Amino acid sequence: MKLQNYAVNEWITGSDDGRELTSAVDGRPIAAISSQGIDFAAMLDYARNVGGTNLRKFTFHERALMLKELAKHLTEHKKEFYELSTETGATRNDSWIDIDGGISTLFVFSSKGRREMPNDHVYLDGPPEFLSKNGTFVGQHIFTPRLGAAVHINAFNFPCWGMLEKLAPALLAGVPAIVKPASSTAYLTELVVRRMVESGILPEGSVQLICGGVGDLFDHLNCQDTIAFTGSKGTAERLQQHPRVISESVRFTAETDSLNASVLGADATPDTPEFDLFIKEVTREMTSKAGQKCTAIRRIIAPASITAELVKSLSTALGDIRVGNPARKDVDMGALASLDQRDEVRERVAELSNQATVVFGNQDDFHVVDANVQNGAFFMPTLLHCERPLSSALVHSVEAFGPVSTVLPYENLDEAIELMRLGEGSLVGSIFTNDDAVARELVLGSAAYHGRLLVINRHCAGESTGHGSPLPHLVHGGPGRAGGGEELGGIRGVLHYMQRTALQGSPATLARIGNRWIRGGTENDPGVHPFRKTFEQLEIGDTLHTDAREVTLDDIDHFAEFTGDKFYAHTDEEAARKNPFFDGRVAHGYLIVSFAAGLFVDPDFGPVLANYGVDELRFAQPVNYGDSLKVRLTCKQKTLREGSGYGEVRWDTEVSNQNNEIVAAYDVLTMVATDEQWASVNS
Ligand code: NAP
Repeated sequence: MKLQNYAVNEWITGSDDGRELTSAVDGRPIAAISSQGIDFAAMLDYARNVGGTNLRKFTFHERALMLKELAKHLTEHKKEFYELSTETGATRNDSWIDIDGGISTLFVFSSKGRREMPNDHVYLDGPPEFLSKNGTFVGQHIFTPRLGAAVHINAFNFPCWGMLEKLAPALLAGVPAIVKPASSTAYLTELVVRRMVESGILPEGSVQLICGGVGDLFDHLNCQDTIAFTGSKGTAERLQQHPRVISESVRFTAETDSLNASVLGADATPDTPEFDLFIKEVTREMTSKAGQKCTAIRRIIAPASITAELVKSLSTALGDIRVGNPARKDVDMGALASLDQRDEVRERVAELSNQATVVFGNQDDFHVVDANVQNGAFFMPTLLHCERPLSSALVHSVEAFGPVSTVLPYENLDEAIELMRLGEGSLVGSIFTNDDAVARELVLGSAAYHGRLLVINRHCAGESTGHGSPLPHLVHGGPGRAGGGEELGGIRGVLHYMQRTALQGSPATLARIGNRWIRGGTENDPGVHPFRKTFEQLEIGDTLHTDAREVTLDDIDHFAEFTGDKFYAHTDEEAARKNPFFDGRVAHGYLIVSFAAGLFVDPDFGPVLANYGVDELRFAQPVNYGDSLKVRLTCKQKTLREGSGYGEVRWDTEVSNQNNEIVAAYDVLTMVATDEQWASVNS
């Protein structure tokens, strides 16, 4: 089988014989890979002019729904992905992380995109900034999609997840991608892309694929393109220094190597649950994906006093790991991705051995289940012990990208922190302790060196997602050696593919651009009570000014009795006067909000279906009895919930007193029926 490239809407076979790819399990040739003859400049043009243009026609919500459809479609093809994944050396569990993990990332971005982004083409970053005395000149940060291609270069260890975790945020942003998987496992990526293309779910030009080298692609990059790279630090450095990347300031995100640490607290002695949890997690992280995870635990930092016990327990646990044919259910750990990779890990262990001693794992004599140890890229889990880790640079810098980890003893917490930092920037670190004070000290001492930190104790371990799993909701990436990049993290990951622009102008202009009303902007007279309008009929800026209502002492007494809220400021004149904020009894905040609702609500059956909350409620001034309240209610933002029959409408609400001073301000959140839904309800 010769892998194909998907370029400019066509599947193209490389023009030369290409490089042979072999099965990790038995060395059998399974594919050849080549991108020879591909017109890379045309791919970039096509992404920018066709893919980008097509994608940007859709709103965030529409693109989010495409991700969901795509996830469902790929789910239907999981069986063939799993079968092929075995050739990469992956066990069923390993494939689950790669394949199901990748598909679930699409689902998560789909749902987050619809919940946390507007059904629009522009994303507003934070609230408006009021820049002038009279409020006629304001600022608003906005994000719009970058008008280039997203070039995704991935590592070999996660041929499916690696592609999808980058693709989901880029497509949601409205940016087309050119995917370049690592050659050794590109056959699985190619199959997944083939199924995506066949589905016809994505608009033309959204995704292209390079199987093989990237040729002169980098020479044609421009300032609107974004590169997201995952792989080794050396390659990242080379690519970041490409003259075109520098001269065009091409946005470059790198996820590179990491010597991730896991720390055992001094309280976690061998008789505690945390000790057992630590043994389990280290063993799992060393052996899942045969240790070929950028997030795997490479450095085991533990109190010197229990190092011997720890080594013994870890050796026992590692001794129980069955290595062999990953297709078999009774195998715990499969092969490394290729024979080259196996040789590379051997060399790195030899290098580490200059400063640490191998205490478990004999590569010259080990048994594999149902496979030939010579033909497959098998590697025995290997544990090292370094006696003087503070003065041993290699254990903090040499990454053996396989089932290899080193025990590093510490004497006190300061030393443990120092050891964590010696990794010079990691994707993730974990801390096993049931002492929250220790957790805080370790976190504050090491967070600046980590993209993610996880603290495990007996209370959260059962539901923990584990040390090594990047989650679509949380950022993935780390400082320094880890590449200095950041991916995922929910909507944060989408914004990497967008440009932030600080916009300045009048409230009305900015409201029109961002589709969110801004205080000081135009107030429309809706003609009827705005609650009588359907979602489509409502216009941003539709405003209701209510009549006024006086707050009496009886009202305050009644509210206190009725609700049971008899806080002294509402019930005890003398005590209330002693309070520096009040000059006598005041109305309850919730009384103000309730009266406001009584003033602005239109009671009859209508298209407003429900009030589902308020946001950003602030009480600006006390309300004394005798004060008179009135409300301004303005339609601020509309978000259609596609296919649900309703949309969310946010109302900017201000309650003011007889002196026109604002006493409370908040957003009222409602669900309003669409024309169609309203007509069907009334038919
Ligand atoms: P690598 O050799 O740096 O390759 C990474 C990617 O870069 C591959 O797709 C590779 O393609 C491509 N590449 C290499 N040279 C290139 C060039 N001149 N121009 C364009 N692309 C080029 O790394 P690897 O050996 O595949 O992966 C293992 C490393 O990745 C480990 O160090 C691991 O820690 C790191 N990693 C990090 C993360 C993370 O999220 N931080 C995740 C996984 C792995 P070819 O395969 O075709 O050469």
